[in-house]
Amino acid sequence: MAPRRLTVCNFPTPFDGEVAYFELGLHRLTHPGPQGWQCQELSLHQATSESQAIAVVDTRPDAILVHVYRDKVRDALALAHALGSLSAEIPLIWCGWTAHMLYLQAVSQAILPIDHPRLLLACGEVEAAVPALLAAIADNESGMEAIATSVPAAAWFDTAEGRWKGHGRFAPVADVAALAPVWDTPTPLRVHPGGAGWIEVSRGCKYACSFCVACSMGEGSVRPHHPERIRAELASADAKGVRLYGLLAAAINYDLESLRAVVESIQALPGAARRVAGTVHAKFAQGERLDLMAALQWETMIVGLQTITPQAQRLMRRREERDVFCAAVERLKAFSVPEVELILGLPGDTASGFQQSVQFALSLPVSVSIYRLRLDPWSVFFDQRTALGLEADFARAGRVIGLPGFAPSEIDASEAWLRGLVKGPWRHRALRLLLDGAPIYPSRR
Ligand code: SF4
Repeated sequence: MAPRRLTVCNFPTPFDGEVAYFELGLHRLTHPGPQGWQCQELSLHQATSESQAIAVVDTRPDAILVHVYRDKVRDALALAHALGSLSAEIPLIWCGWTAHMLYLQAVSQAILPIDHPRLLLACGEVEAAVPALLAAIADNESGMEAIATSVPAAAWFDTAEGRWKGHGRFAPVADVAALAPVWDTPTPLRVHPGGAGWIEVSRGCKYACSFCVACSMGEGSVRPHHPERIRAELASADAKGVRLYGLLAAAINYDLESLRAVVESIQALPGAARRVAGTVHAKFAQGERLDLMAALQWETMIVGLQTITPQAQRLMRRREERDVFCAAVERLKAFSVPEVELILGLPGDTASGFQQSVQFALSLPVSVSIYRLRLDPWSVFFDQRTALGLEADFARAGRVIGLPGFAPSEIDASEAWLRGLVKGPWRHRALRLLLDGAPIYPSRR
């Protein structure tokens, strides 16, 4: 039997850790391709969803796969609508961490209703969720509902009834050692502009912060790759021209063996120094782990703090002690400028608590990066949004706009207060201040 044709649609993706696991997953899926399917990739660079849909249908697919991250949900809903008008008989598989029934329903209600009659979600890590769904599509001629209910990670939106059918459970990769390499292979991953490339170090996290999707990827456990795999991937990536390594791990200093493998591999490379970017955890910035981290040349080192307000820390389910965090940052500053992340609008926080968190971070030798809380799929805060009284704008990526103790006007006033910090002379120890990725200090102007 001739292989079926799968067209894999790629929205342009930034060099961003949030989407990187899925970028790797899609690469593994398409090289060489799932059994019984012939894959072709299509970059969605066309201007309108209608022209994107025409380009997709021109590839004559038997199924279409689209990977959707947070900032592309609007575009993907428009593409689904256009594909539904043009060729509703072709199943459209939606993957990525936005493949979550209730999240997508909330966003579609705010932006554009789902009207594609064959829209299927592949929920979870790409390598675990998508092949099983493709096998079900290839085997099953009895319709969308039968396909969706036969795969635990799948869901289908029944447009006639206006509701999801199927389980839609997050499917994690059971054994990371079974994942194919992405660099140490004849068909390697692409090198991003500037010589950047991903090195997958581990999946999963020790923690389960209530705002974060990572808790779905391991339920409190870290799944590191074997040191030999990390060494082989790094050496192969280097040979392909990678010079800035995005180290993919919830925190690169959780697992000593994999951190050692990264450092030793980089030190063994010939030629000029390589830079790294990644997230570290303050509690583990000591001893041999600290020595190893100091041996790397850091382009970006993200250190999560989020808040120092006790009630907000309790609800977000992670506690950083001020003095421990402070001491860790002082150690890290010897070889990097840590980028400390805070969140504006956390449950349990208040406007004055938020200001105290910002003042604390500004007293450190760091770059301070503040994000408005967004309700992400798979997160505890998304699930508990009604009980917590969280008001969110799903037309703007689930941005929280009001919550008990932190009225909408106070959130806006907190943003104005942040911007006002640069009106006088800069007397803080922090070197930079950013809000939602845009610089407040120093200003670009
Ligand atoms: S925010 Fe960081 S520490 Fe918390 S669950 Fe996510 S990856 Fe883990």
